[in-house]
Amino acid sequence: MQALILNQRDGQTHAAVESLDPASLPEGDVTVEVDYSSLNYKDALAITGKGKIVRQFPMVPGIDFAGRVQHSKDPRFHVGQSVLLTGWGVGEGHWGGLAGAARVKGDWLVPMPEGLDSRKAMIIGTAGFTAMLCVMALLDAGITPDHGEILVTGASGGVGSTAVALLHQLGYQVVAVSGRETTHDYLRSLGAQRILARAEFGSGRPLEKQLWAGAIDTVGGEVLAKVLSQIHYGGCVAACGLAGGFTLPTTVMPFILRNVRLQGVDSVMTPPARRYEAWQRLARDLPSSFYAQSATEIGLAQAVEYAERIINNQARGRTLVKVG
Ligand code: NDP
Repeated sequence: MQALILNQRDGQTHAAVESLDPASLPEGDVTVEVDYSSLNYKDALAITGKGKIVRQFPMVPGIDFAGRVQHSKDPRFHVGQSVLLTGWGVGEGHWGGLAGAARVKGDWLVPMPEGLDSRKAMIIGTAGFTAMLCVMALLDAGITPDHGEILVTGASGGVGSTAVALLHQLGYQVVAVSGRETTHDYLRSLGAQRILARAEFGSGRPLEKQLWAGAIDTVGGEVLAKVLSQIHYGGCVAACGLAGGFTLPTTVMPFILRNVRLQGVDSVMTPPARRYEAWQRLARDLPSSFYAQSATEIGLAQAVEYAERIINNQARGRTLVKVG
């Protein structure tokens, strides 16, 4: 089978498509023939070596995949069953989805929800799953559509664009923040009502005019600090990303004077029950138009080139990798 393999030489990451003997797959109780994987920001960091994601080499990257069970020692999964996987350190410390097959723990797999197939599941992928976890965080905080507008930062990326589509479908008024004018039509087609330039989210005062009932932030840094200063009294920000930096130059003011909540969102170790709920909701809530407009499909051989594009902020929406 073919696989994208990462090696490290002289401190540099080298990525190449090579033949891999299926017998060399790591330990695990279920072997899955991979139909589709996808490229997330974290995959781009791993493949280009721009971020310390991979913990040992050689590594097959790919933090998510969907396919059919080939062999199973786990009674919950049978041969031929459609499954998907996101997170759990796959593609970071355990060989991942950018290969013809993957061998993993049964505990990490999610049975394919009704209404999805491998392709749709990977158009959603880790990014879309994370977007849904962020939406669920806002719902848990009691932020309903009548509270006011919801801001989404890094809106034309994988997490951001799925968040825009989901919030719109659920009846929220969505305002997108994007650094690129070329993506405005796309964001409007997903349901963004207004689009603000990323440049408007530079450093500001600790408290600014209250503009947003809630926010989904994929960017971090100064952008997140600015968003926090503009959240309504009692509002909530679901923060999942660091595309703009991992620092957070804020003050305690939004928290102690406006009762603002900052809810962190992690998709990697999400407990199984929450995982199943998020996937059921994704299958139910995403409109069919989302799958038609949000993904660029590539083959394994183009994965390195597209990883560079993601790092250089030249990708739009989701990048789907057809493996099988
Ligand atoms: P993408 O690369 O698809 O999207 C990121 C978006 O952020 C870009 O499209 C761009 O949007 C914006 N952006 C890029 N560079 C900068 C910059 N320097 N400053 C401000 N904004 C920038 O990534 P994903 O959607 O896959 O992931 C988004 C973030 O969420 C990443 O940091 C990723 O690591 C994180 N993440 C976290 C997860 C978790 O479990 N917590 C899971 C999945 C992702 P635009 O051009 O519209 O401004």
